[in-house]
Amino acid sequence: MALVTYVQYREQAETLAQEFGYVEPPVDVRAIAKGLGIEIIEMTLPNWFFGVLVNIKDEFYISLNKGMPDHRKNFTIAHEIAHHQLHGEELAYMKNVKRDYFHREADVYAAELCMPSEMVRAEAKKWCGDYRFLAKIFSVSETAMVRKLQELRILRNIPYECRN
Ligand SMILES: [Zn+2]
Repeated sequence: MALVTYVQYREQAETLAQEFGYVEPPVDVRAIAKGLGIEIIEMTLPNWFFGVLVNIKDEFYISLNKGMPDHRKNFTIAHEIAHHQLHGEELAYMKNVKRDYFHREADVYAAELCMPSEMVRAEAKKWCGDYRFLAKIFSVSETAMVRKLQELRILRNIPYECRN
């Protein structure tokens, strides 16, 4: 059952990337946040705290840990965009007992927003599954890209070289 809903979140994320006109990597999640009216405020936060979506008088902000590497920032922005798109304006999910589930949904959505499946398939073909290079052009971590390529069954094991 969870898988079915995840398919739906992936489709929504892919659609959002398309609506903002992204057909090639990287998907600029900062521009998408801006387009959705969400301001990003980078600040010093404890290193275990990536970021949070805040709603103050109907204005949305993402408080983002400025000490993180860029790919971590991008994923965090995408994760908070997911909460904004999936979990409503009230941010009631923060207090809900299903909180962990909502964060997992947001992760699925965020991964798809940063790495839309069709885009990854096309680029992986072009660059013969070179996950390091793909991670770079999509502005994501190598771990995230490897996971995505495995999910799409493009990659079974981590390749040591790229053959044409
Ligand atoms: Zn979350």
